[in-house]
Amino acid sequence: MKETIMANFYTDNDDIRFLFRYYKMTELAEIVEGDFLDSRKFDWAPENAEDAVDNYDRILDTIGQLAGDYIEPRSEDVDLEGNILNEDGTVTRAKGTQENLRNLAEAQVGGFTLPHRFGGLNGPNLIYIISIEIVSRADASLMNLYGLQGIAETINAFASEEIKQQYLPGFSDGRYTGAMVLTEPDAGSDLQAIKTAAHVYQDDRGNWFLHGVKRFITNGCGEVLLVLARSELDRSGGLGLSLFVCEPGPTVKVRRLENKLGIHGSPTCELFFNNTPCQLIGERQRGLVTYVMSLMNGARVGIAAQSLGIAEAAFRVARDYAAGREQFGVAIESFPAVRDMLVEMKLDVEAARTLTYETCWHVDHENGVLRKAASGEVTDKAEKKKLRMAAKKLKRLNAMLTPMSKYYASEMSNRVAYDAIQVLGGSGYMKDYPVERYARDARITTIYEGTSQLQIIAAVRGVCNGTAEKFLLGMEQTLQDLCPDEAKDLLEILQRGREQLVEAVNFTKEQPGTEYMDLQGRRLVDAAIILIVGHLFLRQSIVAPAWEDEFTTESVPVGGNENGSDNQSGQSETLDAYRTVRRHKAIVARRYITGNANRIKMLSADIIRHDRSSMTEYEEIVGSLP
Ligand SMILES: Cc1cc2nc3c(=O)[nH]c(=O)nc-3n(C[C@H](O)[C@H](O)[C@H](O)COP(=O)(O)OP(=O)(O)OC[C@H]3O[C@@H](n4cnc5c(N)ncnc54)[C@H](O)[C@@H]3O)c2cc1C
Repeated sequence: MKETIMANFYTDNDDIRFLFRYYKMTELAEIVEGDFLDSRKFDWAPENAEDAVDNYDRILDTIGQLAGDYIEPRSEDVDLEGNILNEDGTVTRAKGTQENLRNLAEAQVGGFTLPHRFGGLNGPNLIYIISIEIVSRADASLMNLYGLQGIAETINAFASEEIKQQYLPGFSDGRYTGAMVLTEPDAGSDLQAIKTAAHVYQDDRGNWFLHGVKRFITNGCGEVLLVLARSELDRSGGLGLSLFVCEPGPTVKVRRLENKLGIHGSPTCELFFNNTPCQLIGERQRGLVTYVMSLMNGARVGIAAQSLGIAEAAFRVARDYAAGREQFGVAIESFPAVRDMLVEMKLDVEAARTLTYETCWHVDHENGVLRKAASGEVTDKAEKKKLRMAAKKLKRLNAMLTPMSKYYASEMSNRVAYDAIQVLGGSGYMKDYPVERYARDARITTIYEGTSQLQIIAAVRGVCNGTAEKFLLGMEQTLQDLCPDEAKDLLEILQRGREQLVEAVNFTKEQPGTEYMDLQGRRLVDAAIILIVGHLFLRQSIVAPAWEDEFTTESVPVGGNENGSDNQSGQSETLDAYRTVRRHKAIVARRYITGNANRIKMLSADIIRHDRSSMTEYEEIVGSLP
């Protein structure tokens, strides 16, 4: 039977705590807080970078505690109960979900990345993403309500001051949840095809109204609806679409709740807008090309974090079970086949985590550069040019890393959740353990916010336009001097892998059009991801010792706040514990890099083999339609 273990899902996760120290959070705090002047106006705003990092640590600690003690124990009932569509068109969420939302509102984490002036925490994206992972480990379906904060961010980034004042405080204090209303029956992956099976129109006084149907809308019963609709009826494609905000009311009807495989706590709605009054966000025609693209980039990293949370949960159940279950007189974890599965699962989770967090690190830096450029504080011409160049470089990098993270983490989540069932054998297939739920919940992650195929299409552009190569070369240079002799062979494998990838990229680019690139997209992206993750693991195992002087033999607080004060949980980590994590990273780096060396070679060889049979012999292979 399922055991409920009370835990703090932040402090019990060594890898997250390691990465919290590994990434210089003070740097991110300076990016988001600037000169820290907000602390004079808002008593929850940090006074300096150390204060900010201490806050991040405490917020994650609070969410970790909530997740372990309350959200996870309610998750089974939430899954069984689901949501109910009432006769009056309102939706009643599962009891546990209602309680979870109340708890999160009390913890005041609704405006995680919103400015202080709207009651938000003004946190970096990376910390928000860590919090999503923690919540998702406890209940993946709750993430779909908690993790929709990008809706508030979009309003903050692009809407008028009046609209911001109207909605943002409600997100911060937990009164509002949002919905991202994009999909229509004929417009899923291809959002340019939106007609608004709904459309929008203006009356004589310029007021906007929405009319029509949207489907598959997560939390469509939420308090704030961001709707993508065709405002230019004579214009097809993305430039005919604008973004609107509206509220539920008599003219917005939830017509049905989808009956679905997983994430049962998250209501998926079909909405009918019957001449609903709405307000335009930003400028006309920029709805898809600017605002939704920005919204979706954030949401995609959010799904990567959701995937991580599910996989972490599944791995832990499998690992515990393998240690306790005996067959042939011994614990099943002593069998090589089971051990190997668990090792691969753990490596997969950490690989996806490091890729996702690295992506957030660069996204936070891009936001910082853009903010600086917009503030007008830089007046020197040469400095301005430098900022523009930095923004351009980061934008290109993030346009590749974001879909890579979403693709890799979501596919990983499915692999790990399925393997968790395998480790549990017949018990894994039963409802007695949560792993079958994890597998059902994981399944959606490769589909929504853009399917894996669409993520690959986006990421492969970065692999083929030189962004991946530049990024890898930069990482090689960083490690060249730092790499100790005993790890030099790993760096050489990565260098060789980069050369093999470049060879495959060059071959792909020699082919006419983009068809071959799309056909081999998965192989190209997989190879690039392996190399990037290999570098990140290696860097973590090498750079980490440089911090050793921060540690004395005395205990160091969780999260490593440098002023030495203890945190709420009262837990501490010692130098020994820190060395254990470092050793773990060194072993992980070696296993991952050596274990994947031949894979890169094979992927590259497969691409150069120039097999186009999926295109040329499709009918012969799959057979014709009846
Ligand atoms: C539970 C759930 C919640 C959702 N929540 C929301 C929400 O909150 N808001 C919202 O607006 N939408 C939401 N969606 C919709 C979701 O984003 C879409 O289902 C998704 O984008 C895929 O679109 P589709 O279902 O129309 O599939 P299709 O676009 O028809 O795709 C079918 C298959 O074709 C492939 N494919 C399509 N185009 C290409 C291409 N160019 N190249 C290669 N392969 C391609 C896809 O990868 C997929 O394998 C949700 C969906 C679900 C199931």
